[in-house]
Amino acid sequence: MSEFDLIRDYFSDVGARRSDVLVGVGDDGALLDPPESQNLVSVMDTLVESVHFPRTSPARSVGHRVLAVNLSDIAAMGATPAWASLSLSVPHLDHDWLADFSAGFSECAELHGVTLIGGDTVSGPLIVTVHVTGHVERDNHVLRKGAKPGDQIYVTGTLGDAAAGLRAMTRGDGHSFLIERFLYPNPRVALGKRMGPLVSAAIDISDGLGQDLGHLLHASEVGATVTLEKLPLSTVLSSNFKPEEARYLALCGGDDYELCMAVPRGNVEDFEALCSSCFLRVQRIGKIDRTSGLRFTLKGKAHAVNVQGHDHFSSDT
Ligand code: ADP
Ligand code: MG
Repeated sequence: MSEFDLIRDYFSDVGARRSDVLVGVGDDGALLDPPESQNLVSVMDTLVESVHFPRTSPARSVGHRVLAVNLSDIAAMGATPAWASLSLSVPHLDHDWLADFSAGFSECAELHGVTLIGGDTVSGPLIVTVHVTGHVERDNHVLRKGAKPGDQIYVTGTLGDAAAGLRAMTRGDGHSFLIERFLYPNPRVALGKRMGPLVSAAIDISDGLGQDLGHLLHASEVGATVTLEKLPLSTVLSSNFKPEEARYLALCGGDDYELCMAVPRGNVEDFEALCSSCFLRVQRIGKIDRTSGLRFTLKGKAHAVNVQGHDHFSSDT
């Protein structure tokens, strides 16, 4: 099979049909007809085998994840995803692998209205890079910068599941729900594209809430206090891990691809209504304050947490 057959079989006609793609896969470049009077948002993420996903990951998951992690960034910017390009480096032509990878990518793309418009295919170590462009109404974009003292901090979904799932995969044990949460993250596209007018700042949680909320606070030049009991944990996570371990995974685990948002007090009701209309669970976990840095409380008292460390809950037993 030639490189051209491979592209035709697995990468032409992937994802949603969009009338704004005038020319997609097959020419030297894609030709697009972007929406008038909107700004474009551009994001890119790379996954390297054994660095960002274990060798045992199913190809379908690799295809799904590499798109999903990009869509999560688009959502965090308050934008609507539209077009994706894929750079694929594979060690050899494994048809089953390519078919499953393409299926995983396709499922995620179709679900979120995204079309694969082009890419590049080379032989090399297994590395996948995706670039996504989205669009957003002028002034409706959301940045990490913009949170103000008094804003409420919300997160979507549950935290820590993916990190526990990755751990389980590496050890070859664990609950399938947790492993699925790592393999098939669910980017919060529906909320992202509608939240712009209601939130003051947002970030997607890829490296753990502690670190990512830290970036938002730094960019906004504010601080925050988070109530540890409020961290949203799945039933599976809290019934399989001790409370301090579950909180550690939720704060420092990574790979969640949930959104963390600052919401001005006056928008709280509308924001919660928007989340319910997206059938999305959100949890208020704390609030923005003036004093820089991220602080935590547990049982109503200040609780020191080193969000970079590894056993920061060791004193909490
Ligand atoms: P060129 O040599 O002109 O760069 P290629 O042979 O690399 O062209 O690609 C031919 C067409 O196939 C282009 O439209 C390109 O965008 C597309 N393409 C190549 N690899 C991929 C891929 N992995 N996914 C999607 N489209 C791809
Ligand atoms: Mg060319």
